Amino acid sequence: MLEDSFGRQFHYLRLSVTEACNFRCQYCLPDGYSGPSSDQFMSLNEINTLLTAFAQLGTSKVRLTGGEPTLRRDFIDILQLTAATPGIQRVAMTTHGGRLEKFADKWKAAGLDQVNVSIDSLDPRQFTAITGQDKLKAVLRGLDRALDVGLDVKVNALLLNDFSDSRLGRFLTWLKETPVTLRFIELMETGDTSQFFNKQHQSGLPLKTTLLEMGWQPLIRRKDAGPAQEFYHPDYAGRIGLILPYSKDFCKSCNRLRVSASGKLHLCLFSETGLDMRELLVSEDVNGTVAFLKNVLGQKHETHYLHQGDTGATKHLAMLGG
Ligand code: SAM
Repeated sequence: MLEDSFGRQFHYLRLSVTEACNFRCQYCLPDGYSGPSSDQFMSLNEINTLLTAFAQLGTSKVRLTGGEPTLRRDFIDILQLTAATPGIQRVAMTTHGGRLEKFADKWKAAGLDQVNVSIDSLDPRQFTAITGQDKLKAVLRGLDRALDVGLDVKVNALLLNDFSDSRLGRFLTWLKETPVTLRFIELMETGDTSQFFNKQHQSGLPLKTTLLEMGWQPLIRRKDAGPAQEFYHPDYAGRIGLILPYSKDFCKSCNRLRVSASGKLHLCLFSETGLDMRELLVSEDVNGTVAFLKNVLGQKHETHYLHQGDTGATKHLAMLGG
């Protein structure tokens, strides 16, 4: 079992399989992706070594993310490999949803349990303004398809100052009939996006108060749950989650580790550096990877330092997948 010096156990791995993305979200890659080419990222064999080591140390849930994970040509192979790794009980992914309509059934057949789709607005014009892609309708068709094939569906929506008016109303109307969990995420500052952050960040706490006043009730967290505090309401088919990284004690329930597409372990989304495991992975050294992971976990800090504006090595979240 992976446990750090603060008694936190890590059952959940977020694995970035590429840094590349074809969306231009204002808060992430507003000028598009211009990083390393796809052949620089971990191969299927390296991913296999990594997953085997993590699973041996008690990891039961893996989220595939990026960049946009579905840009990898071997994405279905990665899904199959993840689902077939002994010990991994739950396979999730985060996507912009552009390919969901076409592939939801194939991804489900490959072993996917849960998909998180990023939809920052249900207003097509706002969606296009935020993401640089006029694809809301296609993404929503993909989301319906994901529900049809039996995937557990969550939606990520960032809280942004410019886009708050009427957004909640639209989302609530939609949640009445749509059985998804909609997670509102407080914008986090990253190295490349400080200006955007200063203009757009808003605390999620007023939204929490509003939801409680409307009769939304908190749910108990599962052991391998993500960072969201979730709420349900008897009149709604969907649920709401709040991810408030600036709130007190956010890091106390941290149960996840991250690996970048180039094989670096990040003990926190905002750690000062990634710890390079590439050689161990290239040489398919499972035992060495296990030893490395056990050894470095003591370096994990108690909290991130975002409150002080310290964003560590993270320039934007396409590097690590959020
Ligand atoms: N391409 C995929 C997608 O669009 O969901 C996966 C990668 S994306 C970086 C993962 C999640 O990170 C998205 O839901 C996005 O909204 C969130 N994200 C990106 N930048 C963020 C920031 N600065 N603060 C909070 N969340 C952010």
